[in-house]
Amino acid sequence: MDSNKAKKLINALKAIEIGRKIKKRERNLLDKTSSALSFREKKRITEYVVYGDKSLYYQCPTCDSAIDRDYQSYCSSCGQCLNWTGFRGCSRVS
Ligand SMILES: [Zn+2]
Repeated sequence: MDSNKAKKLINALKAIEIGRKIKKRERNLLDKTSSALSFREKKRITEYVVYGDKSLYYQCPTCDSAIDRDYQSYCSSCGQCLNWTGFRGCSRVS
């Protein structure tokens, strides 16, 4: 995010704080920022898949891609930050 967008975001947040109705473009900026930041919040691994050769892969909770290596910090496909807490108890999906 460049500094101009950051200033606009701060203005939108200040508007909310003082109770001013935010503009449509401010709402769009808040929505885009929220979406972009959600990838940085760790999401738990909850599912895995077993392929025909009996290889097991855990799945990304955001895009369902197979995670290449256990304990990988980020999904190589979508960039989602991953939380491996409790992954041994997750569900098989196929
Ligand atoms: Zn992913």
